[in-house]
Amino acid sequence: MNFSRALPLLAATALVASLAFINHPGMAEEVAKEDPSKEFTFIQMCDTQLGMGGYEHDVQTFELAVKQINKMAPDFVLICGDLVGKANEKSFADFNRIKGGFKIPCHCAAGNHDVGNKPTAESLKNYREKIGKDYFTLEHKGYTFVVANTQLWKAPLKGESEKHDTWFKAALKSAKKKGSPVVVVTHYPLFVKEPDEKENYYNIEPAKRKELLNLFKTNGVVAMLAGHTHKLVVNDYEGIQMVNGETTSKNFDKRPLGFRKWTAKEEGKLSHEYVKLAGEISKK
Ligand SMILES: [Zn+2]
Repeated sequence: MNFSRALPLLAATALVASLAFINHPGMAEEVAKEDPSKEFTFIQMCDTQLGMGGYEHDVQTFELAVKQINKMAPDFVLICGDLVGKANEKSFADFNRIKGGFKIPCHCAAGNHDVGNKPTAESLKNYREKIGKDYFTLEHKGYTFVVANTQLWKAPLKGESEKHDTWFKAALKSAKKKGSPVVVVTHYPLFVKEPDEKENYYNIEPAKRKELLNLFKTNGVVAMLAGHTHKLVVNDYEGIQMVNGETTSKNFDKRPLGFRKWTAKEEGKLSHEYVKLAGEISKK
């Protein structure tokens, strides 16, 4: 993918930095240190889903992950939905208590288990009260993270889905204007095997998917991080990385529990690696 096409501002920053180097070789190191677009790391967690692998088990694995991630000291954590198995007072309270242990910011996407397979005004209200916003934008070191609510694509809700999509398009447009690479963060992937596959429990219906993939291509989206599959899925759609990572609750592909560490470099270059969940799970 030609990143410079999508990233005129970052490219311009790099050009200015290199010109500074030519004119003042002694200043080059200082210029490099001050460049906010330099490398950073963040974590992708998927489906903490308290209750999926046994309630007490999932509470413990989430606690272990928080401890482990704090030691790694990334810039922030993203949780790609299905925070809990059953959305109720206790599960959301437990989730918030454990999430509160992070020493770095943690941002969440809403999953079908959090707001329902068919979200309603009530389920969204409950989520917004207990967890927070279900769609929002974050800017970090030259990148834009667009956290979307895929339930509003999977099972559209009158009034809510239109509002969400207007926001989503505006968020991409604004990032494009700034020349900022975009990472879309969700619960559902758009597709699992093929971009033109039929709709099933694990993807978004083809017409909506096509519309979104076109938006991605024309607005500098470099990656889409999702959960929901409970198995590792790594796709490349015309240079856009689409990754569903390991969970801390239960994986269907027999991979050990864990999460993904992402490294973001300048000019929209991202790489990711698996990190195995460390520590003992006690059997109670
Ligand atoms: Zn799910």
